[in-house]
Amino acid sequence: MSTNDATMTTTYSARLAEALPRVRDRIADAVHAAGRDGGAVRLVAVTKAHPLEAVEAALGAGLSDLGENRIEELEGKVGALGRGAATWHMIGHLQSRKARQALELADLIHSVDSAKLATRLARMAEEDGRVVHVLAQVNTSGEAAKSGFELARAVDDLLPLAELPGLEIDGLMTMAPFGAEELILTRAFGGLREVHERLRAQGARIGQELSMGMTNDLEIAIREGSTMVRIGTALFGPRAQKAFSGAGQ
Ligand SMILES: *Cc1c(COP(=O)(O)O)cnc(C)c1O
Repeated sequence: MSTNDATMTTTYSARLAEALPRVRDRIADAVHAAGRDGGAVRLVAVTKAHPLEAVEAALGAGLSDLGENRIEELEGKVGALGRGAATWHMIGHLQSRKARQALELADLIHSVDSAKLATRLARMAEEDGRVVHVLAQVNTSGEAAKSGFELARAVDDLLPLAELPGLEIDGLMTMAPFGAEELILTRAFGGLREVHERLRAQGARIGQELSMGMTNDLEIAIREGSTMVRIGTALFGPRAQKAFSGAGQ
């Protein structure tokens, strides 16, 4: 590591030393306010569009769940740090032709947004004699720009996918409209929780995770039942918008 890189890691570490306790407090307060159990919400640190130094600082700060939204960037970071260095989360839209890479690189794919992708991942995992852990992404806002299973059809669409050998659906994921008012956010997150409850009521083989909540809306997400928040900006600061125009914000 060059001196410059080391300095950058130090800068990220200093930032995290302040930011991480604040984020943990926000999560703990929200969990408490919702009357939920402590430790009920996992923090996924979203390092997308930040350099390797940010990831090193995150690992140094004890963050072990790391999220990336582009497969190329995930590949670069896993390649540099090692597959076992963290629990890697793929959180961005995934083209079917990159399913193989996601299968190899990620411990949990949050962004399974179509039957085609789910089927493909299931088949590959089965051929490999393993299972792939995924979340099914649901479009709870109806925004055309957001991917995911359509809210009204999600139960019917997901019931058969939950039966696929090779595929372990650990739960559901959604992204709320960016910067929307509280009522809209509550509806989006509550909508995901309802789909999840209906799936479980119908006996679907689907786990308990609800991946929802980001920097601006984690409190509302936790109130609505989130078990995993995906936090970037509050931990690492603003992202370089130009260099990375991925599927995120
Ligand atoms: C970028 C991104 C996040 C993190 O968003 P912040 O507002 O920076 O916390 C979470 N989830 C997904 C899917 C993202 O693309």
